[in-house]
Amino acid sequence: MGQGKIGIVGLGIMGRPMARNLLKAGYSLTVYDVVGTAVEELATDGASAASSSKEVAESAPVVITMVPDSADSEAAILGPGGVLEGASKGSTVIDMSSIAPGVSQKIAAACEESGVEFLDAPVSGGEPKAIDGTLAIMVGGKKDVFEANRGLLDVLGGSVVLCGGYGAGNTTKLANQIVVAANVEAVGEALVLARKAGLDPQVVYEAIRGGLAGSTVMDAKAPMMIAGDFKPGFRIRLHQKDLHNALLTGKELGVPLPVTSLVQQMLGSLINDGKGDSDHSAIANFIEDMANVTISGA
Ligand code: NAD
Repeated sequence: MGQGKIGIVGLGIMGRPMARNLLKAGYSLTVYDVVGTAVEELATDGASAASSSKEVAESAPVVITMVPDSADSEAAILGPGGVLEGASKGSTVIDMSSIAPGVSQKIAAACEESGVEFLDAPVSGGEPKAIDGTLAIMVGGKKDVFEANRGLLDVLGGSVVLCGGYGAGNTTKLANQIVVAANVEAVGEALVLARKAGLDPQVVYEAIRGGLAGSTVMDAKAPMMIAGDFKPGFRIRLHQKDLHNALLTGKELGVPLPVTSLVQQMLGSLINDGKGDSDHSAIANFIEDMANVTISGA
């Protein structure tokens, strides 16, 4: 025990279990979230409560941020009352949020100007792997900073890979989100087809999961679609945000992303339908509505 001090900003679906794993591993934590109840919950688990990101940075040499999007990372790190106002020279900021790679580079440059080290280290695996401490962590930044923080990242992740310089972690995460989006959508289409053909979607899932169509996405999301249970998990609005960032990055690089674009539009439509806070497996609802059938049969 007695592993050193860590600060965490952002205690949502992901930040909360990640914080608990660090506490379990013996780190002493100072935490902050704009939502006060989230901070109180972690304080009950043994973390010290702070009243701003600045205060978190004043109390810990390494600060992890886990907030929704680019603007939130900018606010938490660069904004008034943000991490950089409290961070001392030589400390480290690890932004584990999934944000636009260009914004990671902007934040990295601001950190360097203040003599603060930076890593972008977004994750994949969702709440279950955040709870188990087996996330896939994709990192951008300097090799020596990566190595210095490897022990900490190993507490949170089952695989931890340095992908390149600043922003490379988030570019890798966009690649990840393209694959996940197309997969979730395809599982939805397949199970709607099965149901409308009069088959039992559970039987179809069991028949195909061991073949080439089987995937981590299928095993995580098909049961939710079959049960008609869309409790998040990973919110539709966050996946729409990731695909938006992928499309912007594709535009900058001259890479058309036609399937990503289609799924991003579907997710946008579901947000307009009031489903932004449903799990992204609810993309099946879009196909169900078009086919006038539900996978669950309800
Ligand atoms: P969430 O909405 O559940 O939690 C985000 C938290 O950040 C909230 O508690 C919010 O109050 C807090 N917050 C926002 N702005 C803040 C600020 N300026 N200062 C302090 N706190 C602030 O989201 P989540 O599901 O935990 O996702 C966090 C990040 O991880 C996102 O970028 C998401 O895309 C990514 N991610 C999520 C999953 C998943 O399955 N949920 C999986 C992989 C990656």
